[in-house]
Amino acid sequence: MAESNLSFEQAKERVQELVALLDQYSHEYYVLDSPTVPDEHYDELYNELKAIEEKYPQLIQNDSPTQRVGGALLEGFEKVPHDSPMLSLDNAFSKDDLTKFDRRISQLVDGNYTYHCELKIDGLAVSLKYVEGKLNQAVTRGDGTVGENVTANVRTIKSVPLTLKEPLTLEARGEIYMPKDSFLKLNEQREENGEAVFANPRNAAAGTLRNLDPKITAARNLNVFLYALAKVDKAPVDTQSDALALLDRVGLRTNPDRKVFESIEEVWSYVEEYQNRRTQLPYEIDGIVIKVNELANQETAGYTVKAPKWAIAYKFPAEEARTVIRSIEWTVGRTGVVTPTAIMDPVQLAGTTVQRATLHNVDLMKEKDIRLGDTAIVRKAGDIIPEVIRIDSDMRTDNKPYVFPEECPACSSELMHLDEEVALRCLNPKCSAQTKERLKHFVSRNAMNIDGVGERIVSELYDQQLVQDVADLYYLQKESLLKLDKMADKSAENLLNAVEQSKSNSLERLVFGLGIRHVGSKAARLLAEEFETMDRLKESSEEEIIAIDGIGEKIAESIYSFFRLEEVDELLKKLERADVSMAYKGKKKEEQIDSETFFSGKTVVITGKLEQFTRNELKETLMNAGAKVTGSVSKNTDFLIAGSDAGSKLTKAEELNITVIDEARVIEEIES
Ligand code: NAD
Repeated sequence: MAESNLSFEQAKERVQELVALLDQYSHEYYVLDSPTVPDEHYDELYNELKAIEEKYPQLIQNDSPTQRVGGALLEGFEKVPHDSPMLSLDNAFSKDDLTKFDRRISQLVDGNYTYHCELKIDGLAVSLKYVEGKLNQAVTRGDGTVGENVTANVRTIKSVPLTLKEPLTLEARGEIYMPKDSFLKLNEQREENGEAVFANPRNAAAGTLRNLDPKITAARNLNVFLYALAKVDKAPVDTQSDALALLDRVGLRTNPDRKVFESIEEVWSYVEEYQNRRTQLPYEIDGIVIKVNELANQETAGYTVKAPKWAIAYKFPAEEARTVIRSIEWTVGRTGVVTPTAIMDPVQLAGTTVQRATLHNVDLMKEKDIRLGDTAIVRKAGDIIPEVIRIDSDMRTDNKPYVFPEECPACSSELMHLDEEVALRCLNPKCSAQTKERLKHFVSRNAMNIDGVGERIVSELYDQQLVQDVADLYYLQKESLLKLDKMADKSAENLLNAVEQSKSNSLERLVFGLGIRHVGSKAARLLAEEFETMDRLKESSEEEIIAIDGIGEKIAESIYSFFRLEEVDELLKKLERADVSMAYKGKKKEEQIDSETFFSGKTVVITGKLEQFTRNELKETLMNAGAKVTGSVSKNTDFLIAGSDAGSKLTKAEELNITVIDEARVIEEIES
């Protein structure tokens, strides 16, 4: 029954139901960072509640989700009250909603007004306080009145300056987010480790920022866009656009895609433009925020308990598609985790034809009760990888419950569902699929970087029994290589040369290449720097490993048990006999303290108007600090140093997700 037709008694009952459901979903979303229903479903129920409350205001409970912001606070963080509330935003879902908003504004505000349009970044809100130019405190929105003190974690986000370019005392508010590619990488890693995946970049960002271990925040790539100046001393501003210009000027990162419009018609064109462009952005947006630009008009328009009346968030409709699941493919990863992919009838989704979608793991499949022949709703996670988000059970006829595989699709050994994991796992260390994945990892660019050994060659080398473990690569002979499909004399020689060259790699590449659980390339470098030889690493205790800055308990445990395995010992001996170097060749830790700087070995590009340096001075300073300064932004660029009015280089850097820093940060890094 539509909410408008409910009797008072029915409405009362429905309100209770809705409040309970929304509370449960909010807890999962805000506290556990792990929603169980899509946002659109939450929004539908929320709007239903709002409509009933409008008809029967006497049913509005003080603790109704329509009357409060966010969710409960996490234990473990210091609770900090906000100087002024950090509110939510009212939503619009159609052009009509925007027209109504415009009408309300014209009634609330006297005289002329304009609209400042911004991208609605899908992350979590944070307040940053600077005292005389120094970062003093970072706090989450929390329940809007009190937030969690996350300063230690925010300090690890490279784009947050510790010192502003001007010694101002101010409070800026903005959104912390996880770029799409970092989100996908993180989920891939979690899948490999049998851990639950994050539902979307927003939950991944929230789970990362609200983690009690700043090492974890530092290891995952978070970023920030500031979008509000809540308070500032000695620098009055009159409009939202001035406020953002001030944030830019002092070195706080703002989103360059923003614009002021005079009419709601123009606002609508902007909304439509970004609805089409959103998938091309390197971060997720879920809508456009429209704010009255003049601060005086904002004050006149005022606030509700939950949101400013002078702003609205237009939410993009979800880009979803429906199709039928025909089969499920199971693939075995490097660590034995077996992951399901749905093979579906081809369907158009956000600009591409999609036929495969990830189902993540067996627990999620069970939770969603996925069956062959079901109609699935698919969407792109992080706007890239298609995933099945739910099943339309109304469309189900007599599809039988799915029978999960009991044997590894590659080696037929029994699959296990370990207690603490969400995935199925093949525990056979000699499994062919796992071995091939381990070989692929070993030769990959960030590991031993053996050029010319791609997926096809790895597979053939294994199937022809020429290579059964990574050490076998170093015992390959030209004659046997020539027996491989399409392998000519020259390519066999190139391959052997690449293998030969990799023998002299520095230790961190080998450590990473061995594929020790939880040890990424960054951890491998820290280990190599610390222990310098494989022998010393092998003999190190868990305590010694944990003592390394940047390495946590989980990694230490994993390394320690890895080196206690007999087969690892044999593998290392076999590598050693083949003359593979087991020594670290980078700068020693002690040397780094003297000469290593933030910019050592980094490729840097400068753009925009500089204030503290001339361009040549900055170039020279960077070169003295060990950087290579180049003229154009590419994927090899490590940092873009952006002054004011930066143009296309900044856009390109953002597209490529390159860290952008300002002059103040350069000074800070050089001084430290
Ligand atoms: P919101 O995310 O809809 O909008 C407010 C927030 O937008 C602000 O607090 C800020 O963090 C952010 N924002 C991003 N860019 C901004 C900009 N340029 N200017 C100003 N703010 C900007 O509101 P909310 O209160 O954080 O969350 C409510 C939404 O969360 C719901 O609409 C729903 O979609 C989702 N939710 C989902 C579940 C679930 O179970 N799936 C549960 C609870 C909430």
